[in-house]
Amino acid sequence: MDLLYANDRAGAYPDSWYAATATPLPAFPALKGEARADVCVIGGGYTGLSAALHLAEAGRRVILLEAQRVGFGASGRNGGQLGSGQRVEQDDLERMLGEDAARRLWDLGEDAKALVKDLGARHGIDCHLKPGVVHTASSDREVRHLHHYADHLRKHYGYDQIETLDHAALQGVCLSPDYRGGTLDMGAAHLHPLNFALGLARAARDAGVTIHEGSAVLAIDKGTPATLRTKEGQVRADHVVIACNGYLGRLDPGVATRVMPINNFIAATEPLGARVAEVLPRDVAVADSRFVVNYFRLSHDGRLLFGGGESYGYRFPADIAAKVRKPMAEIFPHLADIKIDYAWGGTLAITMKRLPYLARVAPNILSASGYSGHGVGNATQAGKLMALAICGDDDGFDTMAALPAPPFPGGVALRTPLLALAMSWYAMRDRLGI
Ligand SMILES: Cc1cc2nc3c(=O)[nH]c(=O)nc-3n(C[C@H](O)[C@H](O)[C@H](O)COP(=O)(O)OP(=O)(O)OC[C@H]3O[C@@H](n4cnc5c(N)ncnc54)[C@H](O)[C@@H]3O)c2cc1C
Repeated sequence: MDLLYANDRAGAYPDSWYAATATPLPAFPALKGEARADVCVIGGGYTGLSAALHLAEAGRRVILLEAQRVGFGASGRNGGQLGSGQRVEQDDLERMLGEDAARRLWDLGEDAKALVKDLGARHGIDCHLKPGVVHTASSDREVRHLHHYADHLRKHYGYDQIETLDHAALQGVCLSPDYRGGTLDMGAAHLHPLNFALGLARAARDAGVTIHEGSAVLAIDKGTPATLRTKEGQVRADHVVIACNGYLGRLDPGVATRVMPINNFIAATEPLGARVAEVLPRDVAVADSRFVVNYFRLSHDGRLLFGGGESYGYRFPADIAAKVRKPMAEIFPHLADIKIDYAWGGTLAITMKRLPYLARVAPNILSASGYSGHGVGNATQAGKLMALAICGDDDGFDTMAALPAPPFPGGVALRTPLLALAMSWYAMRDRLGI
């Protein structure tokens, strides 16, 4: 089964609140016949769009091939949280890679946040970008951990945009009886993810990128130039960027052994009206510390956008709203009666170490994926780093490509069942509070 078509109508965005409120972009025609490019980008999410945009701005002839619609994948469906740093916390990175490498990754994380904000401003992308992400914890031990981490960022990285919240202070931000405290990071932000992707596509088109939708790449014939084949055409290109993330399938088996697709789900409630004050008195995004993270925020029309629940394997559950309602009711029991107007799922990609996987799969073929739930900033940045590398500046790309990226045990065939086992075990520990 192919994740590109397993859960969605071909050529259509899912029925998400994002698609319902997006600033639409007219469809781009499918590739027909033969074409030539300096660079061919596969995939029209943040990674591919950012790579294409930066390459076109550097004067390269770029063709972007997207199997469905631009922003069809995780980039058009996610929680919209633009977090600080990397998915892995800095003290863990210091232990894993040493202090210098950890600092370099922190700086890249800060650059990624700045890049998203800058692209939004520079290209006039109307994506409701707002500051503030809260991290919450449900036990005093986890609250102490979050507070210690905020102190660590202040002392060792000079990061002064994060404040600690005790239980009372957290109640002024998020009214869940489940959470005991947390931190508020005003350098982090949240946005309308599909509008950000569509804005990048518009900017890329205006910079000269030729975009083809409905143009799944079926095979890459490696060589110089490489040839990429779709159902009705082919592109010959000196360089290739693979930017398919969770939807990669087996297009590149080497990458596929190191990144694992997982599904995650979001529901949008009916507009909360005055009940907003019972849920999120401040318009900031929230993510908690559970193994299967709950994350939520308000939409610009006053709904609760609540993300929670994962699944491994291809198919989404039949009733996504019911799947998300369960964790939502644990966090906000007082919303038990709220109506859910939209519910959708998306596929992202994780790596064993929860660090992005950037790789040179051939001398002229670069790939970036596996942002492990931290892709709003990381993917946008990885696209730019690949563009820079193709233009001769591979500093940033090489730093990311040097990160450890072990293959998943079991290879492509067994990685999903083994992961499902491990994940269920950790999710059970969460439920038992151990
Ligand atoms: C429900 C959910 C919530 C998330 N929440 C957050 C969050 O709050 N914060 C955060 O930072 N990250 C979050 N993420 C992760 C984030 O969305 C991703 O890391 C990021 O969008 C990855 O971007 P991408 O461009 O690499 O991949 P995608 O956006 O998935 O794009 C890949 C594209 O490649 C195309 N494609 C695949 N194969 C082919 C082919 N053979 N030929 C042509 N095209 C192809 C697909 O159609 C797709 O459009 C979330 C993800 C999900 C699913």
